[in-house]
Amino acid sequence: MIQQLQLNDICIDLQLKDVKHTYLKIYPPHGRVVITAPKDSRLEVLRAYVATKLDWIKSKQQQLQTQERETPREFINRESHYLWGKRYLLDVQEHAKGATEIIVGHSKITLRVKPNTNQQSRAKIIHNWHKALLHEVIPRLLAEWMTKLEVIVKGYFLRKMKTRWGSCNHQAQCIRLNTELVKKPKYLLNYVIAHEMIHLIEPTHNKNFFKLLTTHYPNWQTAKAELNQLPLVAETWDYVVAQT
Ligand SMILES: [Zn+2]
Repeated sequence: MIQQLQLNDICIDLQLKDVKHTYLKIYPPHGRVVITAPKDSRLEVLRAYVATKLDWIKSKQQQLQTQERETPREFINRESHYLWGKRYLLDVQEHAKGATEIIVGHSKITLRVKPNTNQQSRAKIIHNWHKALLHEVIPRLLAEWMTKLEVIVKGYFLRKMKTRWGSCNHQAQCIRLNTELVKKPKYLLNYVIAHEMIHLIEPTHNKNFFKLLTTHYPNWQTAKAELNQLPLVAETWDYVVAQT
């Protein structure tokens, strides 16, 4: 059985072992926190110990998340681009005449642009397309969750964000969603919407929040872990150890 400690929004796996000292490890790629402690350790003591390390844990997790980010796309031929969890190769075709077009094929996304469309413009075309794709599906998901949770969302915004999948302005009853979600399977978008909309009932990540989340989205932990997986590059990591 895995024991866990929950401190604020950080969940820590507890391993009681035949060891002399207590130590914390942060595991890449998602910053999983594991505390290893002598078998006879008392939970309150371990909680107090972790509490003194919270800032350190958060900064290390942030560091890992920063490193984990996808490398910037250049919008060139044969580059990998994800859409709803599926990988495609980009095929850039230059057309002197004709409108800008994006065609999704079996394993290829064709981007038709005018000659000399630079990287920044290509990125913008793709970004706007991503937004349009999200706008096609989000209103229905919001409506579904409004019924299930009996809350009202007055509006939603799409933005490319570096560190968060979504956020909720509880007072304004608005949610913000990361346009990067278009690269993930659709159920993960649904998970982020559920998460943010539960914040309309419970603004902080307290016990009640997770209770509601578990009721309405039972496998949220899997969804969360999957969301934070690296989409493209497999890298090797060293873990970070806190000294006691
Ligand atoms: Zn949240």
